[in-house]
Amino acid sequence: MTTLHRQSDTCGGICQYFAAFAALLTFCAALAGETAAELSDKGEAPAAATSLNDSVAPIDDPVPLAEAVTTADGLAESMHMLDADISPGTARRLSWSATELFEGVPVSTPVLVVNGKLPGPTLCLTAAVHGDELNGIEMVRRVMHDIDPQKLSGAMIGVPIVNVQGFRRGSRYLPDRRDLNRYFPGNSTGSAAARIAHSFFTEVITHCDALVDIHTGSFERANLPQIRADLRDPDVVTLTLGFGSMVVLHNEPMVGTLRHAATKFGIPAVTVEAGGPSQLELSEVKHGVKGIKILLTTLGMVKKTRLWGDPEPVYYRSSWVRVDNGGILLADVSLGSTVRKGDLLGTITDPMNNARTELGSPYAGRVIGMARNQVVMPGFAAFHIGIQTDWVDVDETEIDVAQKPSDGGYVDGMSE
Ligand SMILES: [Zn+2]
Repeated sequence: MTTLHRQSDTCGGICQYFAAFAALLTFCAALAGETAAELSDKGEAPAAATSLNDSVAPIDDPVPLAEAVTTADGLAESMHMLDADISPGTARRLSWSATELFEGVPVSTPVLVVNGKLPGPTLCLTAAVHGDELNGIEMVRRVMHDIDPQKLSGAMIGVPIVNVQGFRRGSRYLPDRRDLNRYFPGNSTGSAAARIAHSFFTEVITHCDALVDIHTGSFERANLPQIRADLRDPDVVTLTLGFGSMVVLHNEPMVGTLRHAATKFGIPAVTVEAGGPSQLELSEVKHGVKGIKILLTTLGMVKKTRLWGDPEPVYYRSSWVRVDNGGILLADVSLGSTVRKGDLLGTITDPMNNARTELGSPYAGRVIGMARNQVVMPGFAAFHIGIQTDWVDVDETEIDVAQKPSDGGYVDGMSE
């Protein structure tokens, strides 16, 4: 380490060139890993998803989520999960361990449960399904520890760190570089990822009546706080509108994601995206916490009235803008910026020949996700633009263009 520093201090330009080359190699290795993960995901996730959905009948719940509290009568009941009984009006800290583990040593993660004194639905919050997504961990902590079980109608289950193995290594992935969020609802006889997903889904998620899965952007990209939801499902719409002021992106979930598996099982689910990975961003955390607290009020689970912000738009379409030149990307917009067609999004400068190219927006819309300033290669997805269209304009084939792996617009990790 010391030797390397001394060299770069004294040998000038050529060493800087090698340092840049080494950085590029690391970057290429990361990209290669990204591709490998994608390929293995495509091969296994759908199979795992089909087998559980076929073997376990979805919940048949005729009560719309919006009426879950008002139609709940009688007394709240004890909850039984993870070998524990949780009486009405109490809070418990339980733990979940996947039954199959790489190291052969059980790794457990906390499951916070608040069973309200009054009857109502069970709302679940999950975070860090990707181990490097920290904002959600803090959101779950803040929400769960602020709930008074005596005043809650229904119950809440909060899992701050689902992918505890990734979290401990500061990694998005499981130790074998599989993306856990491509394996839900899992399979008890499948790959390690499928088994972990299956254990979590059956032991925790099946207790939920609605689910909010919290994520951030990935790979040095950050997202404007937003809800991703399949707005064709009425209960998902109830959940989405309940947040009050947060941007909504209509988005059909990918097979294998927790959101997809839960919704298919009969548990309406949305994803909250806020900020980027590997950092704790206080304003994003506060935005998310406020949204979830408003949701508890609008669902009728908590009686407190909260301040509402200005309503935010719903985007039925979105698209990634990619760079055509490699170099140093510097943004001219920030998250949440409104752009017109042709507006400058950022510049890419080649550090070798000083050539500078401008990246304009091909769409009018809003910057709902963007890369942090960094060195990029041609084809890198740099800006995610939410495009306002009417619902009627959204054709089945057009929905979710940015998210489908079969499409060139797919960006690994940006689909939760
Ligand atoms: Zn994620």
